[in-house]
Amino acid sequence: MATEQLRIPKATAKRLPLYYRFLQNLYQSGKLRVSSAELSEAVKVDSATIRRDFSYFGALGKKGYGYNVQYLLNFFQKTLDQDALTKVALIGVGNLGTALLRYNFTKNNNTKICYAFDTNESKIGTQISDVTVYSLDQLEEILNKEEIQVVILTVPAQAAQSVTDRLVKTRVKGILNFTPARLNVPSSINVHHIDLAVELQSFVYFIKNYSNESEDTEEVEENEKTRI
Ligand code: ATP
Repeated sequence: MATEQLRIPKATAKRLPLYYRFLQNLYQSGKLRVSSAELSEAVKVDSATIRRDFSYFGALGKKGYGYNVQYLLNFFQKTLDQDALTKVALIGVGNLGTALLRYNFTKNNNTKICYAFDTNESKIGTQISDVTVYSLDQLEEILNKEEIQVVILTVPAQAAQSVTDRLVKTRVKGILNFTPARLNVPSSINVHHIDLAVELQSFVYFIKNYSNESEDTEEVEENEKTRI
């Protein structure tokens, strides 16, 4: 990827799409410049990190002026390879898979789910948005022919590993795993795990147990410092 050639640290590279989306919105609303404080507020990344990230892009903000939105957008467009469409496949067209197909990342112009696969006969051959659902029997054939490198996995947990074992034999390099299953893959494949149920549960736990305490906790810590 272009980001590797520029030797941008991985953590910075991960934040690029976030910056890109926000700057696109700014540009569309006619803003020519943005301060790191404004960016920080919008993308919830602290401004010191933003300044460090942007220094890798050769964007040095001027005091009292901020960053040039057009310059940053051009940079991101090149770096994120916005002109080239990355085709993504989705496996498992259940409730979550269908929702993702309907959403299909339309705000993000460089990735699109182009192929969907399922084992359920009643779903094979149907279309969701403009994406056709293919039989899992055609998985390797289509992925190899279309040179698909990224797959979204929304099958039931018990089917996740066997589908993954098939993906390992294709050119797939990345799996976005929405199933609760932990996948065994060789080091040539990156797995990003998103378990929405766990996210929601831990968030609810946090809200119930900690959300009202954050100020109090800081106060106690402050008092303790004073005592010392
Ligand atoms: P639904 O209500 O449509 O069944 P769901 O999200 O509750 O949705 P799941 O049991 O999680 O259903 O299955 C998700 C989808 O994965 C279903 O469409 C199912 O047919 C499909 N599926 C099951 N096993 C496999 C497999 N091995 N490969 C591909 N798709 C599979």
